[in-house]
Amino acid sequence: MFLCLYNFKDFKTSLIFGTAPKRWFARTWVPLKTLRVYADGSMKGDKGAPVVLDFRSSVIRLRQVCKNEPRYVVELPMPKWVIERIKEGGDIKYAMIGLKNNELYLALVAEREVEPYQPSGYRLVVDVNSWRYGIAWGLIHNGQLVSFKQEKPNLNELLTLYYQAVKRGRKHGALMRIGLHHTTQGKRLRRQAKARRGKIYRVTRDKAYFLASKLVRKALKYKALLVIDDMTEESRRELLEEGLPRDVIKLLMSNLRRFVHQLETLAKWYGVPYEFKRLPSTVCPICRHELTQEDGRVMVCPNCGFKAPRDKVPMHWAIKEARDCSVKVRYRA
Ligand SMILES: [Zn+2]
Repeated sequence: MFLCLYNFKDFKTSLIFGTAPKRWFARTWVPLKTLRVYADGSMKGDKGAPVVLDFRSSVIRLRQVCKNEPRYVVELPMPKWVIERIKEGGDIKYAMIGLKNNELYLALVAEREVEPYQPSGYRLVVDVNSWRYGIAWGLIHNGQLVSFKQEKPNLNELLTLYYQAVKRGRKHGALMRIGLHHTTQGKRLRRQAKARRGKIYRVTRDKAYFLASKLVRKALKYKALLVIDDMTEESRRELLEEGLPRDVIKLLMSNLRRFVHQLETLAKWYGVPYEFKRLPSTVCPICRHELTQEDGRVMVCPNCGFKAPRDKVPMHWAIKEARDCSVKVRYRA
């Protein structure tokens, strides 16, 4: 399910992705039936529905029905997003109308029924680590790691913003202690600190959305089985062990949950078969012995001599599992 929010006041749309209703969305919103009129003139839905999505003239009409006489009251331009989802075979079966932050919104809910494709033998393994080491992905085929990459936002930029925010926060705190925080300078410091924290959040959020879309497209291209290894908790522990300040850890973990959620939502929408699987990074994929970590995050097996960078160990596990899986299939055949 995808959700598109339409603000009446300034004609702005924003997107919300997901399958669970949001908190503000729960009680006070009213569901409305829709009528869809397509470019070729064909129609779907209830003829008397209060919301009409007219793809011929690219408008959304909201009508008020009084005394058996339908009268259009509001006409809004059709968001580009809706046209794109319809082209992909989606449908807007209902809309919701309600208030968000005391403003009137129309929410359009896109749905699509898709059967996941049969995987071709490729596996796209996505390891969700903290932004410190990045989200690692590997494409596996015929027992080989075909490509591998670790993706992350510009950490220097994020940390610079973070320390700038901390510095301004401290200065603001000092002014507050002597009662001068309501001055122009005090207000400016507060505003600047807030703006920098907001920017950090937006950078990681945009990266999360960008990567989720890129990886689902990659899976589609190879008809791959998408394997999601959500190791955010393990990553959080690793950062704690490194003794990083909690604020920095929060920064390095921000929007990772959103990334996983978005990856799953897009996989469902485009019919990419996926599974969640824990792939260890501290256990030997050859002999299952505990690995020891050397300098530069290199993992070594004291038992059999296996050696690999820490972020590639899960890929070795995925290769092993793909192999075990194909052996099983051969046996059955
Ligand atoms: Zn080993």
